[in-house]
Amino acid sequence: MVELHDVRKDYGEVAALRGVSIGIEYGELVGIVGPSGSGKSTMLHMIGTLDRPTAGTVRIAGHEVAGLTDRQLSALRAGSIGFVFQQFHLAAGVSALDNVADGLLYAGYSLRDRRLRALDALERVGLGHRLGHRPHELSGGERQRVAIARAVAGEPELLLADEPTGNLDSRSGAGVMELLRGLHAAGTTVLIITHDRDIAGALPRQVEMLDGQVLS
Ligand code: ADP
Repeated sequence: MVELHDVRKDYGEVAALRGVSIGIEYGELVGIVGPSGSGKSTMLHMIGTLDRPTAGTVRIAGHEVAGLTDRQLSALRAGSIGFVFQQFHLAAGVSALDNVADGLLYAGYSLRDRRLRALDALERVGLGHRLGHRPHELSGGERQRVAIARAVAGEPELLLADEPTGNLDSRSGAGVMELLRGLHAAGTTVLIITHDRDIAGALPRQVEMLDGQVLS
């Protein structure tokens, strides 16, 4: 699913990734751990094809990212990759249903199909009773569930989560982790950045980062 070979990423003077090589199989559930500034988010950005490496190769689902145009990359993201962030990134003043449906704008569905898929995804995350609620009318845990519904509405093969429980109390966080485990059990490849050692410790595989490199 994911293959990084000797990936470097420089931001001006800062070497955020200093030669990262890693392979992730289809269907894995992986925790990415390491101190703040160690390059976790940068690596997730490379895997999510949100940014291109300074050097090295990134292969996602068999596609070498360097060989794709921006348009092809957008299509790869829209069809294969879902993102969940610590800050939820929901549109303010927009219902849960439309926040999720709008996530499918670039996947080529009609409005009706986007809404049907959004409804299904919200039901899957247990929010079928909150369709018309706007983000400020939802709890933190519910907002993250909406964000997860948006990430999975297009049925991506790969789900990338950057500190998905970072803004949640432990109970809501546990609910979000249970949801991510369920998606993994259903076949999705799931990568989770977390600073929570308990969460990471409970995952089948952990990738430890330090100073822009994979330690183990
Ligand atoms: P982590 O997710 O482990 O906290 P990051 O990948 O966010 O680490 O950052 C790795 C390093 O790269 C840090 O030193 C950070 O300051 C730097 N960095 C990340 N993004 C940028 C950027 N857009 N511009 C400049 N420096 C950046």
